[in-house]
Amino acid sequence: MRGLVAAYCGRVPLGGAGARPRDEQDFRCLRHAIVYPRVRDRALRVALVVGTILFAINQLDVVLRGGVTALVVGKVALTYAVPYAVSTYSALEVNRLRS
Ligand SMILES: [Zn+2]
Repeated sequence: MRGLVAAYCGRVPLGGAGARPRDEQDFRCLRHAIVYPRVRDRALRVALVVGTILFAINQLDVVLRGGVTALVVGKVALTYAVPYAVSTYSALEVNRLRS
């Protein structure tokens, strides 16, 4: 018997071969689940709002003083990347609980 595969690409779907998605829409591997527009767009909005608040709290004074170094640029990138990752992870976990 052939194992469960993602409808898009034939890879193992999110949740593993034992996952029981409700319909074809849910047959997504991890990679396609992350770029699924509803997950991706929400994560981008969360990253923009939360990342901007955290940037203002943590690095805005440094940037305004002209202290922009490679380290500061890296910290700013992580400031936006962390809420993006948390939002994506949260959305995927909620979907897994439903299926
Ligand atoms: Zn896929």
